[in-house]
Amino acid sequence: MGTSYKYKCDNCGYEEEFFTGGRIMTKDYHKRTEEAEEELRSAALYGKYGESIRQLVRNERDNIVINCDTDLYQCMECRQFSVQIAKEMYMHRNEFNMSVEFRHECPACHSSLLRKTRGSVTFCPKCQNFTAQLVSIGRFE
Ligand SMILES: [Zn+2]
Ligand SMILES: [Zn+2]
Repeated sequence: MGTSYKYKCDNCGYEEEFFTGGRIMTKDYHKRTEEAEEELRSAALYGKYGESIRQLVRNERDNIVINCDTDLYQCMECRQFSVQIAKEMYMHRNEFNMSVEFRHECPACHSSLLRKTRGSVTFCPKCQNFTAQLVSIGRFE
């Protein structure tokens, strides 16, 4: 199952559609996701994300959910869209909820990427100054 996002800019005519999630729900996609999850877990256990995350991942190994599905991101600097593997961890307990999302770097300019959520302001990657519109969201199996 996955989601597609189609963006359009009325100013310059830019139009592009992005696919996230298991676009082609193949064994490969599944394997890649699992590998990414394992990689993120090891990096956290190694202390890459700081001591508190390290402790948490070590002590709550079975309670932490790691999400490495692909998702749509946009660079805050150069406004390029890119589909990236999410690096997110969360844990839900009766009295304690936490969720951490690790920073992504723009492949083009190395600034921070922002995860696109519906309704947030989107700048056109082409003409930059005008707000691009999300024209459709699709779901596919
Ligand atoms: Zn960028
Ligand atoms: Zn534009």
